[in-house]
Amino acid sequence: MTPNSYIKKRRWNKNGTTEPKGELSKVKDTKTGRPIYLIHLHDSSHLHRDLRLEMDGVLKSWAIPKDPLLTLEGKKILAVSVEDHPLSYSTFEGTIPKGQYGAGKVTIWDKGTFELIEKTDKGFVIKINGSKLKGTFVLFKFKPPNNWLFFKKKE
Ligand code: MN
Repeated sequence: MTPNSYIKKRRWNKNGTTEPKGELSKVKDTKTGRPIYLIHLHDSSHLHRDLRLEMDGVLKSWAIPKDPLLTLEGKKILAVSVEDHPLSYSTFEGTIPKGQYGAGKVTIWDKGTFELIEKTDKGFVIKINGSKLKGTFVLFKFKPPNNWLFFKKKE
């Protein structure tokens, strides 16, 4: 994704989106110093979840289109990479107005921190410490550039 994709897709005019503007800043979780993990529930044209991980000063983001059964070990689900979001998006909840990009209600479904266990050119292994998701998860490049698989590793 190009660095400005987030800004280009959104309009902050009078009837525009209430989402945070796209400033990038490095803010770590103050309790652990570990990077932010969260999943938004996004009720737009299609109800889906958005996985976000703090990496390189932004929230790397993936849309999870299907009802994921995310806690099930070994169950592989599709995660489609989307544009980087600013770190300030990690606290965003609200309704994106009709006619705007991603119109619909956005709520935080799960939030916490993660540890990067392994990073290769094929993807990541991360240890998630959220309220709902806990444990070791894999994000694997399945059909580049945008299609990834996300699953919980057997422990
Ligand atoms: Mn979304």
